[in-house]
Amino acid sequence: MNKGKVYLIGAGPGDIGLITVKGMEKLKEADVIVYDRLVNDSLLKESKTECEMIYVGKKPNHHTLKQGEINKLLVEKAKEGKTVVRLKGGDPYVFGRGGEEGEELYKNNIEFEVVPGITSAIGGLCYAGIPITQRNVATSFHVFTGHLSDDEKEFDFESIVKLNGTLVFLMGMKNLEKITKGLMEYGKNPDTPVAIINWATRNNQKVITERLNKIYDYAVEKNMSSPSLIVIGDVVDYREKLSFFEKKPLHGKNIVVTRSRAQNSSMIKKLRELGANPIEFPTIKIEKLENTKLINEIKNIDKYNYIILTSENGVEIFFKELYKMGYDSRWLKNSKIVSIGKSTTEKLKQFGIIADIMPKTYKQEELYGLLKDKVKKDDNILLPRSAKGRKFIVEKLNQISNVCEIHTYTTVIDDSKSDEFIDNFKDVDYITFTSSSTVENFFEIIGKENKKLLSNAKLISIGPVTSSAIEEFGFKVFSQAKEYTIDGIISSILNN
Ligand code: SAH
Repeated sequence: MNKGKVYLIGAGPGDIGLITVKGMEKLKEADVIVYDRLVNDSLLKESKTECEMIYVGKKPNHHTLKQGEINKLLVEKAKEGKTVVRLKGGDPYVFGRGGEEGEELYKNNIEFEVVPGITSAIGGLCYAGIPITQRNVATSFHVFTGHLSDDEKEFDFESIVKLNGTLVFLMGMKNLEKITKGLMEYGKNPDTPVAIINWATRNNQKVITERLNKIYDYAVEKNMSSPSLIVIGDVVDYREKLSFFEKKPLHGKNIVVTRSRAQNSSMIKKLRELGANPIEFPTIKIEKLENTKLINEIKNIDKYNYIILTSENGVEIFFKELYKMGYDSRWLKNSKIVSIGKSTTEKLKQFGIIADIMPKTYKQEELYGLLKDKVKKDDNILLPRSAKGRKFIVEKLNQISNVCEIHTYTTVIDDSKSDEFIDNFKDVDYITFTSSSTVENFFEIIGKENKKLLSNAKLISIGPVTSSAIEEFGFKVFSQAKEYTIDGIISSILNN
């Protein structure tokens, strides 16, 4: 049997881009990933499909697995010959108990490596616009745990107040009052600037600042909770100049993406770059349909004067079949390729095809307008597409030529994430809809009783057909994309 190995990896403070290159490389190779609450779970998508995921996160008052049990788990999985990644928020050795896990592996003679991470104690401050040191202002920094274990019941405030550098407390929210009072009692200036940074580096990062004597009341008023960093020192004032993350145009906005998981990645990435917090709520799953008819028509492709492709999925399924049959794009040389929608046209390029005919908008009426004078009576048109496509184009084109419509896939409702989502409804700023079926499925999944929870959310639609679907459910469309694409949706959020 292969010998197993454990990697203790720091995932960084939350922004998925802040894991190290080495950490990411090992993550992709892992057979088992054992991860914590502070790890951004979007990172887990990078793992192999067969990788086993084990959540050992501790919720504030609620231990899921005790440290001893986690240690045992790592040893066990490594002994099975697996490559185990122990993924921790920030750096594994900064209040992360990585040392204890390493000791246990050493004791059991299990090979391990440690991959350092960006600790929230430094990276978290950076994203709040606070440099942890600054010439002539803070020439050292000191990182403390704000959570006292039983054998050190009191903070050593006397020593702490003698330090001139920046003070950072982790795990300190429960003791915030005790910490701030204690520091002042031992002589710390009550006017010292303090920042509290909640969910640092994530798109839901929230920061408050106040003076030492007022921060506790303010934090209560603002409902600040764990996980947060408490930063005490004059460097906090640099935030006004050095803040960059919170200046992004969609910072702090919770935006629901209802597209299928297979299709949502480009939208999620764009939203993230603009500072938004995208919430994946796929309402649709793509299911491929039986394909004998498609195979037959691909064999006879020469008889088709036109092939019309209407979606990215349609393109992908069509070309995968074509390749599987041992052909490539040259097989289509006698047909004109018609593409509806920008993303369809882009997808076609990935398969080496530049579309011949592209209507400007996504509307079937416009496509018909373009084709009706070109298409002749004896022309054959192949239309491989979703079983849920509108009939308009087939009926119209059949009046002047011969259309062969093949349903290569269909879309079905995906209600796998509903409960988790409904819990967070009240915080949602925007809900985006990219087709009438995402609208229909969305309302079906959430159920009538939850519709009222949506009163604060702004509904964004990709185009007129989707907008009518939203209105049919009795909701107002806040904004409709000018261009019927994902970029169009994003612009309509940015411009409103
Ligand atoms: N190893 C981690 C720290 C683990 S202790 C690191 O290096 O960052 C857990 C504490 O870290 C939390 O209670 C909180 O104080 C802090 N913390 C970790 N990630 C944080 C984040 N994204 N935002 C705010 N605080 C965070």
